[in-house]
Amino acid sequence: MSKKYVYLFSEGNANMRELLGGKGANLAEMTNLGLPVPQGFTVTTEACTRYHEDGQKIASEIVDEIYAAMEKVEKIVGKKFGDLENPFLVSVRSGARASMPGMMDTILNLGLNDVAVKGLAKQTNNERFAYDSYRRFIQMFSDVVMEIDKTKFDAILDDVKEKNGAKADTDLTAENLKEVVERYKELYKKEMGNDFPQDPKVQLLESVKAVFRSWNNPRAIVYRRLNDIPGDWGTAVNVQAMVFGNMGDDSGTGVAFTRDPSTGEKKLYGEYLMNAQGEDVVAGIRTPEPISHLQNTLPEIYDQFVNIAQKLEDHYRDMQDMEFTIEKGKLYMLQTRNGKRTAKAALKIAVDLVNEGKLTKEEALLKVEPKQLDALLHPAFDPKALKAADPIAKGLPASPGAAAGQIYFTAEEAVEAGKNGQKVILVRLETSPEDIEGMHVAEGILTGRGGMTSHAAVVARGMGRCCVAGCSELTINETEKYFIAKGKKYNEGDFISLDGSTGYVYGESIATQPPAVSGDFATFMEWADATRTLKVMTNADTPKDAAQAVKFGAEGIGLCRTEHMFFDETRIPAVREMIVARTEEQRRKALAKLLPIQKGDFKGLYEAMEGRPVTVRLLDPPLHEFLPHEDDDIQDLAKEMGLDFEELKGIVQSLQEFNPMLGHRGCRLAVTYPEIAEMQARAIIEAAIEVKQEKGYDIVPEIMVPLVGEVKEFSYVKEAIDKAAKAAMEDKGVDIDYKVGTMIEVPRAALTADEIAKEAEFFSFGTNDMTQMTFGFSRDDAGKFLEDYYSKSIFESDPFAKLDQKGVGKLVNMAVELAKPVNPEIKLGICGEHGGDPSSVEFCHNIGLNYVSCSPYRVPIARLAAAQARVKEILNK
Ligand code: PEP
Ligand code: MG
Repeated sequence: MSKKYVYLFSEGNANMRELLGGKGANLAEMTNLGLPVPQGFTVTTEACTRYHEDGQKIASEIVDEIYAAMEKVEKIVGKKFGDLENPFLVSVRSGARASMPGMMDTILNLGLNDVAVKGLAKQTNNERFAYDSYRRFIQMFSDVVMEIDKTKFDAILDDVKEKNGAKADTDLTAENLKEVVERYKELYKKEMGNDFPQDPKVQLLESVKAVFRSWNNPRAIVYRRLNDIPGDWGTAVNVQAMVFGNMGDDSGTGVAFTRDPSTGEKKLYGEYLMNAQGEDVVAGIRTPEPISHLQNTLPEIYDQFVNIAQKLEDHYRDMQDMEFTIEKGKLYMLQTRNGKRTAKAALKIAVDLVNEGKLTKEEALLKVEPKQLDALLHPAFDPKALKAADPIAKGLPASPGAAAGQIYFTAEEAVEAGKNGQKVILVRLETSPEDIEGMHVAEGILTGRGGMTSHAAVVARGMGRCCVAGCSELTINETEKYFIAKGKKYNEGDFISLDGSTGYVYGESIATQPPAVSGDFATFMEWADATRTLKVMTNADTPKDAAQAVKFGAEGIGLCRTEHMFFDETRIPAVREMIVARTEEQRRKALAKLLPIQKGDFKGLYEAMEGRPVTVRLLDPPLHEFLPHEDDDIQDLAKEMGLDFEELKGIVQSLQEFNPMLGHRGCRLAVTYPEIAEMQARAIIEAAIEVKQEKGYDIVPEIMVPLVGEVKEFSYVKEAIDKAAKAAMEDKGVDIDYKVGTMIEVPRAALTADEIAKEAEFFSFGTNDMTQMTFGFSRDDAGKFLEDYYSKSIFESDPFAKLDQKGVGKLVNMAVELAKPVNPEIKLGICGEHGGDPSSVEFCHNIGLNYVSCSPYRVPIARLAAAQARVKEILNK
């Protein structure tokens, strides 16, 4: 049998969402429930996919199915589509699986033409209504199908209103509306070069095609990327009998939610307009009445609506967002769907529905989007203040939250300003590890270059600092301390605001509110923890960040990047001394100075984690990152170190690399200078022994070797670690357990994971570097060209933010499968940025990792994502 592309509402149900889209499936379900739904049919998502596959053409068999369905609906409603005496009018609406703003929305009153409008006037004995409907149809069809600028139609309407002294649209007479219709048609002809289509079948097919096309419009593509919606889903089209809210004062239309979508409070919430069509409510032309008002004006309709709303909520076991129309005192339901809601409302509704006995805890866990929790964990803009502000630029939403403050262009000046009690926004072309302190004092960070895993983005997320990265619209001049946005110059000390959740930059200070964590949040997260099997660790390098992560539920540290500890003012001299040392003896002398400092760092971390496991990674970045590059700075350092300027400059130059990310970094440093690894290993072990003695915490440190690609690299470094650990334990006279493992981030490490797993006690997948090396995309530069990949539908999402499961994920999975048979005890985790991304967390659960590790502020998100992955696994069994 050939595929069926068109379904009557009476043929579908709520489970057919993939085929019928959300709107179509729910219209079918409401029909099955016996609710008053104007009848119609749904053209499936598969028809949309086929339309695109066929080179933007609707196949003739689909056209035939559409006409056949139309005939069946005509029989149900007792009118004929295209009839000139008593025309059957329909609405055409898009409806994807997930609701998607940005796509073509709605066309109403389709089926009208110059003759049928007269028939409609006669049939309804309401000429005003007939021409009002026709002018709306011409405008909507022209706007959404033919893409003629809507404001040109508004201008005509306004002109006719003004000429006739009409304040509102409802004041226009039938004669006025006839004039509007004539002028709209003239405009259409001028814009399109032909007459407004009079054949209802042409109107219908053109509208269906427009819905299919809108699946790939730029706004829809962006929305899909932000919301993880695959590009191959396609959208369905719903064709539904019109009912009219604009038939007079006993007619109207409205929208309502079964619970308050911003607070979650259990009460009917919504608004309506009498003598109006749906678009009037959305467009905000007239001020609608609150739904409660309907109780006084049309009490029977109100009671009926309340009953239906309750029935729908009970049926779907979720808060519903409904559209309705009242036609001459009769209520019709046009749509229902699970309503969009704020994070706060989502948590309250989920917890309430469990308490009301409508959902199990596991089901409730699926009702909150993990990413939504973010809004509760960071300061946010005061919504009123934000509404009044206009953005001056947009960059990447690299680290969420809201920040307002004065701009500074160097880390030192930011630190100074911070000391003076100012709120600071650090603006840099790009940040480097030297900027750490400036980033720490800043409320927010703004960079002109770099992507979602650029230094600024990664570090800011770790600190929970708001960050907008890669804002290439700005011209930033760091030397002269200004930037230019939309032609305006912003100088050092000027106020700006950043929205790290949207990427918007504002040229003024906008008031912010601190994060509020309500009781429902804690309850909900307890349920998540009780359900999930995947552990959630954190990436943290300071006791402060570690303590924050524990508050957010982290079970340990999965990645401590030790290099971040090296930049502090007090220790950088010893670090530099180590780097410029010419002999091993000199290097060991410098390392001896660093040892107690590093030990102190690790003790701080262990104490903050109160006995939870801590994984410390050995030094990773290329050494030149720690050295000054300007002559003046080299001069100062030379003086400080008692070196000749030329000699030091020569050393600095000798450390420079063409491609440092693929250069002398990671375990390669330890291969050249094992004494660095020895110092770090000794500090890690001594710190654990001392914390055990002082605080009683039993720490089993996990020492992690970065950037391994060959097992012999790992074995070589492990030997240095073991030697240092043994010496430290002998010196202290105490034996403790520790583990040595490796990052798996070089593709070759994944390919030879069976060899490495024989030697390593744990693997942590460094998917930032692995993504970089698998695609061959520089993680610091890809942001510049990835935008083109999205707009040209080559990529749907940023592979540095959402794990590329097909390619990079395949390597990860392969490594897991190679490792487990040779080392069944091996502990497996991920510590790349993907460890905090919900879909990537689900992937990690499904391939059997033991833990994910992410920045502190994403820990709750990962906890929920892990719980959802487990619930889905149970449901699929
Ligand atoms: C990684 O590469 O995924 C990782 C966690 O290490 P870093 O980001 O420090 O390179
Ligand atoms: Mg790495």
